Amino acid sequence: MASLKISAVIFDLDGTLLDTERATRGIMAEFLARYGKEPDAEKEEKRLGKMHKESAADIVVDYDLPFTADEYSAAIMPMYQQRWPQAKALPGVSRLVNHLHRHGVPLALASNSMKQHIELKISHQHGWKECFSVILGGNEVKNGKPAPDIFLEASKRLGVDISECLVIEDSLVGVRAAKASGAKVVAVPSLQCQEEYQELANCVLNSLIEFRPELWGLPSFEDWVQSALPIDPLYMSGMISKAFQQDGFTVINTISGSDSYLSIPDQVSGVFFGWEKIETIGTFKVVMSIG
Ligand SMILES: [Mg+2]
Repeated sequence: MASLKISAVIFDLDGTLLDTERATRGIMAEFLARYGKEPDAEKEEKRLGKMHKESAADIVVDYDLPFTADEYSAAIMPMYQQRWPQAKALPGVSRLVNHLHRHGVPLALASNSMKQHIELKISHQHGWKECFSVILGGNEVKNGKPAPDIFLEASKRLGVDISECLVIEDSLVGVRAAKASGAKVVAVPSLQCQEEYQELANCVLNSLIEFRPELWGLPSFEDWVQSALPIDPLYMSGMISKAFQQDGFTVINTISGSDSYLSIPDQVSGVFFGWEKIETIGTFKVVMSIG
């Protein structure tokens, strides 16, 4: 990777910062079941990152539903709004956002969601709203992603040239938009194994736990302890296979079985060794083997 000087970071929201997909899983199936239909996984994957309005029009046609796109939106939107507050931050997100904000790096949120929906989604994430000097919804630009409009507008509002902006995105639609805008792009795919990400993005990561700010001319994390990586809590359930004391630390081995794998965030795969600080209890050495 060539040496780069990034002055501002623009984040996508759904699937990049927040696991809204997991929180809202099953809504489409529940809704379509009322009309005797089932979701088509392939079609739903292609809709990731698209504008709701555009998706709604396609869904009505794809499933031959007995109403207009607007009527479909009005019927399903309350189901989504009820679930959004349950969406959890994806691994490494709070650490990265807080770190960049603390160092005065201008941050923007640019999502194809409507502005009021973005605000609802982040309202349950402590301190997030204050970290972003620009929050831009898809309804505030002429063309949503994959058009570059939203990233160009975010860079304008941040007062930073787009060539010095880094966009962090999970969907191909968003990565295409970022690439077209002239920004640098880090892809954190929600759906792994898609070669197109490698072709379009400057860098592809499994999760934001792997993001290294110094590679982009941004301030490094200062919270490494003895070359170990600090991590946010990972929201998952599963069997703890072993927990024991070693060198004054509690070592927890978590091995996921097939049931618990389903509850692990999509971006988490592989093996992580790291430290998780639990303020009320102390510092634990956490060893996790996932997937
Ligand atoms: Mg997204």
